[in-house]
Amino acid sequence: MKVLMVDIDKCTGCRACEYACSFAHDGEFNPLNSRIHISEFLDDFVFVPTYCTQCDEAYCMDVCPTKALTRSQSGVVELDYDKCIGCKQCVIACPWGNIKLSSDAKRVIKCDLCGGEPECVRVCHAGALEFVDVEDAVLGKQIRAAANIKRSAVAGV
Ligand code: SF4
Repeated sequence: MKVLMVDIDKCTGCRACEYACSFAHDGEFNPLNSRIHISEFLDDFVFVPTYCTQCDEAYCMDVCPTKALTRSQSGVVELDYDKCIGCKQCVIACPWGNIKLSSDAKRVIKCDLCGGEPECVRVCHAGALEFVDVEDAVLGKQIRAAANIKRSAVAGV
């Protein structure tokens, strides 16, 4: 299974991902309708992309009264607009705030990984976003954590 991974050390806060996401889904460059969101922490010059992580235990799916949210074979939680009645229970249930209302408040929107080729990853020239096999993602994190430990050990802290 492939997952969307973020390296916040590389994110420059350019928001290209937000523009690309909204254009890919709605045909307009409107970050308010992006399924990925960049939170800015300007005091520390840190930018944190957040998005639906397709939870294994997806509360949004559990609370949907019309079963408009279902899991695809590739593991993506997909939203069927023909079944969605706009009750917003999924918006309330998501612990991460990653299902939200569109800017006109008429639709619920969430990341669908663009059918397996996420636009946000394609346009992120900083390399902050990757779409990788989950095993590779874990290995990458282990290597980064080990490098941090080594740096601390060498620095004597
Ligand atoms: S495109 Fe990449 S660098 Fe730019 S805001 Fe998005 S994640 Fe950060």
